[in-house]
Amino acid sequence: MTADVRHSDGRAPGPLSRRSLLVGGGVLLGGAAVAGGTAALRGRRWDVAVVGAGVTGLSAARNLVDHGRSAVVLEARDRIGGQLYTDHDFSSIPVELGAGLIHGREAYTWELVREAAAETVRVRHGNGAPEPLDTPGPPREDEDAAAYLRRMGVPEERWPPVSIDNEPLHRWSAVWMSEYGLFDWWSVPRENFRVVGGYDRILPPLAHDLDVRLSHVVRRVRWSGRGVTLTAQGPDGTVEVRADRCVVTLPIGVLKAGDVVFDPPLPTGHRDAVESLDRTDALKLVYEFDRPVFPTDEDVLGWDEDSGFVFWCLSREDPEVVVAWAAGENARRLSDLDPDARFADGLAALAEALGEDVPEPVARTTHDWAGDVFSRGAYLFVPPGAHDAPAALGAPLEGVLYFAGEPTTGENTVDGAYAGGYDTTDRLLAEG
Ligand SMILES: Cc1cc2nc3c(=O)[nH]c(=O)nc-3n(C[C@H](O)[C@H](O)[C@H](O)COP(=O)(O)OP(=O)(O)OC[C@H]3O[C@@H](n4cnc5c(N)ncnc54)[C@H](O)[C@@H]3O)c2cc1C
Repeated sequence: MTADVRHSDGRAPGPLSRRSLLVGGGVLLGGAAVAGGTAALRGRRWDVAVVGAGVTGLSAARNLVDHGRSAVVLEARDRIGGQLYTDHDFSSIPVELGAGLIHGREAYTWELVREAAAETVRVRHGNGAPEPLDTPGPPREDEDAAAYLRRMGVPEERWPPVSIDNEPLHRWSAVWMSEYGLFDWWSVPRENFRVVGGYDRILPPLAHDLDVRLSHVVRRVRWSGRGVTLTAQGPDGTVEVRADRCVVTLPIGVLKAGDVVFDPPLPTGHRDAVESLDRTDALKLVYEFDRPVFPTDEDVLGWDEDSGFVFWCLSREDPEVVVAWAAGENARRLSDLDPDARFADGLAALAEALGEDVPEPVARTTHDWAGDVFSRGAYLFVPPGAHDAPAALGAPLEGVLYFAGEPTTGENTVDGAYAGGYDTTDRLLAEG
């Protein structure tokens, strides 16, 4: 549902396989070797410490370990995956509370799907105009995307439906969207796929045999040209982890909040980059019904209606599971409501979209990404004037401290995270 910069600009999709060095795949909890306690962390020095076990952090560690480097991954949550969060307990079918879709047939993540021997189903074609937008001139430096399209004379009915799964166009950098072909990415119909059995099926091929320390909240990163010392709060108390280098894959919301202290503070260019980037709000309200409510000939409702919600039917079996998706302004409005009111709001909108009453759900669930202190919002977007920020933040510091993930790529997809973890560590490895 979000921007895949890499494949949208017409460039070739990079190396054929990111996974060529990988042999086999894990089958346990993401296959990670999740070490207990903190004793094994003390008195050791790793080649690289990775902060965060989302898809970027796992890809980074995978690449390093496959190249013979020692790497430890410190993850604040009690699970891997970050914004890729499959709930297997809610219903008889796995429910995606975070990322749900693979966008397009060219995504790198198909490599992981194949390795996991997972099945996928095609969900729907993307929406929008069948031809690329005609924008005869370049955007201005600080111009927002809506102002740019207006100036280019593109009629509003042809504007890409970015706000459905993201922030409205007036919040986006026109330069960024233009440079990376995002106007067309959102406009041109595309195919989306869901991983049968849960999106998290793609994690074991990345995470197998990695040394991932769950429930280790990094609080401080002390860094210099000689290496890093991370201070983390683990299940057994405070630990210090030493490494020659560090890859930080924190989401932009966490970086902006200053939850992790950098000592010495990051240089101005990096701080400005963090300041200028932003994260969207997005949430899913998931309902389980004991009888069918969705029309049999539709998988998606509300896409074209600007109701603030898009409804997806995840399962036509008994039970029927329906997801109400909200992004941007509507997600923020919902986040301000108490949980009961939030679910009631989504249900009322579903009844309106169906044109008839809906029964009370037998179960419901959601995840509050804005209130989640290890995310502090959903995925990243690039506001007007911030088009240079990802590259600025991606510049390594003293050959020791590397940032990776959404804030350094400007991408906000699982595919982008997968490629970004590899790209950053390819660079680290090349630097010796
Ligand atoms: C609701 C929602 C729907 C989405 N839908 C899609 C979709 O359909 N398709 C798609 O491709 N993408 C989608 N995305 C975006 C996609 O999930 C992300 O772009 C991608 O997963 C980002 O991966 P990452 O590893 O860079 O960041 P994250 O997944 O955010 O990983 C960062 C990790 O850092 C950890 N962390 C935070 N603070 C600390 C700390 N102090 N110490 C240690 N660890 C810490 C976090 O717990 C997390 O595990 C969606 C995201 C959301 C939230």
